[in-house]
Parts: sequence; C-alpha cells; structure tokens
Amino acid sequence: MSRDTSPSIPALPKAFKYGPRFASPVNSPSYEWRDDTQFLQVTTGCSHNACRFCTFFKNVPYGKVPLDEVEFYLRYVALCDKVMPVKRVFLQGSNALHLSYDELMEISELVYAHLPNLESIGSYGRISDLRDKSVEQLRSLKDAGYDRLFFGVESADDYLLKLMCKGYDSAELYEAGAKLKESGIDWACTVMFGLGGRGYGFEHAIKTAEFCNFAEPDIVGAVSMTLTYDPYTKMFPPIKRAVDRGEFVEAGEIERYEEMREFVRHLNVDTLFAARHSTLPVGFLALIPEKKEELIDAITNVIEEGDEVEMKRFRERVREV
Ligand code: SF4
Repeated sequence: MSRDTSPSIPALPKAFKYGPRFASPVNSPSYEWRDDTQFLQVTTGCSHNACRFCTFFKNVPYGKVPLDEVEFYLRYVALCDKVMPVKRVFLQGSNALHLSYDELMEISELVYAHLPNLESIGSYGRISDLRDKSVEQLRSLKDAGYDRLFFGVESADDYLLKLMCKGYDSAELYEAGAKLKESGIDWACTVMFGLGGRGYGFEHAIKTAEFCNFAEPDIVGAVSMTLTYDPYTKMFPPIKRAVDRGEFVEAGEIERYEEMREFVRHLNVDTLFAARHSTLPVGFLALIPEKKEELIDAITNVIEEGDEVEMKRFRERVREV
C-alpha cells in the first residue's frame, strides 16, 4: 500500500507541459530575490529572441503557459504563502508583458485569488510589448497590481538599436516611454554600456540619458555588454562572431566608465541610478540628482585609478549576465 507523505501538495497532471518546473533558469533583477517574492512562469522564451548580445532563452521557443497550468503552480506558491507571506510575484519568461492586456488582467485576478498577502506583480518587458497597450490599459494594469516593471531599453541610439537587432527604433522607444510616464507605473530602464564597441560610447550615452530624462524611469539600471559563454544555452552571443572576425571591437573597460560618466552627466531626472550588476567590475548606487556630483567623482576615480587589465580579467570571469 502506498502512502501519500505530502497530501497537501497536488500531483502534476501528465498533460501539463511546465507545471512547477521552469522552462529556463529563473531570470530576474537581483533585487527581486527576496524571501517574500515568488517566481511564476506565465510565458516561456522571448517573443523577439534576436538581440545580438543575448543568449537567454535561445533554446526555448516563445510560448504562453496555459492558465490552468499557471493556476496549478499557484497552488504550490500558495503553500509557501502559509509559511512566509508572499508579497510579490515576479513573472517568468523573457517578457511576460508581451501577453495581451486581457491575459495580464486574467493572470492578476488568478494570482490575487490565490495569494491574499500579495502587494504587487513584477515582470520584465520589451519596449515593443507596449505597442498594443494604451495609457488607460497601463493604468488599469497598475491598479491590478503590476508595478516595478523592468524594460531592457539598452540604448536610445538608432544606429545601435539597429546594429544589435533590438527590434524597435528610437521613435517607438519615445512613444512607449511617454505611455509609461503617463500611466504612472513604476518602471526600471536598463541601459547597456559598451554596446557600441570601441570608440562609440558618447553618442549612445547622451541619447540614452536624454531618453531617460524624457521618460522618467524610477530606476536606471546599468549593465555592461559581456559576451560570455552561456552554459544553459551552450552558446556565445551572436555578436561574438563579429568580434572573432574582427568586424566589431569590444569597448575597453575604462572606456565603458567614461561612457557611464557621460551618461550620468546628461542624466537630469529624479531617479535611482543602480549600477550594481554582475557585469560591472565597480558598482555604484546613487540617487539622482541629489548624489549626481558625488557619483561623477566616484566614476572619475575609477577612470583615473582603475586597472584596465584587472577589469578585463573580471569580465572574462563573468559567468552569468
Ligand atoms: S535581450 Fe531580451 S528581448 Fe533581446 S533577445 Fe534577449 S531576452 Fe529577448
């Protein structure tokens, strides 16, 4: 006779493709790894899957997790809630915000129905995910719990957006930025330094800072382009081939901080500049504008005192971006 040792944990129906498993390694900003946050897979892969510096999700096709599977997994999350109240859920998949407004609202209803202590729902999104969403709909999504959403903007420079196959141009970026601003949703804008390679930093820095000034993100998250081997997808980012052929020269380490300083010099908006990422040998965290001058001095210090060779070694050791 078999004995059910965990009667409160439901068995996974065979027909479910994902259930409590994640289709890819969990992907979220490091500050979302908190005891009161749980991850919930609602999409798989990336709807775009073409950025040349990226290896994420290359081995998983984009797809929507059926709602009955989402609900099934929520029953596990609800068990966690009994031990430690779950206050935030961070949706999984590269860009769960690609789901339609109606689908996102359905997910919100489901999540709140299962998690009585929930305060907000976070997610990554692409700028292009805002094409089919109006300002009013974004406001409703905010009311339905969606907040602190992360957008990998990378640059507002058309040359770089095209070079890196981001799938949108600066006109679309500004349109989306205006929607986010008007909706009042909390959002974070990720900016990538080193994106243009050697000698192409300042234009990118200035244009991207100008975009941030316009769109007023609550957080500006900085990362530095790192073409590391991805053990999950077993590949290098596509742009690495251009590097190997000598068609693209990676930016120097000090040069990336010069780019960052130029960006900060042009950043004139109330925001948190969060440059604390695994791809940055020296990190910073500063409120703008209060700490802007101090931040510029600290970056200048790295430019003047930093060791190019040591920082390059650091980048070569980066395993996860
Ligand atoms: S950077 Fe983001 S949007 Fe671009 S391919 Fe990677 S996961 Fe998709």
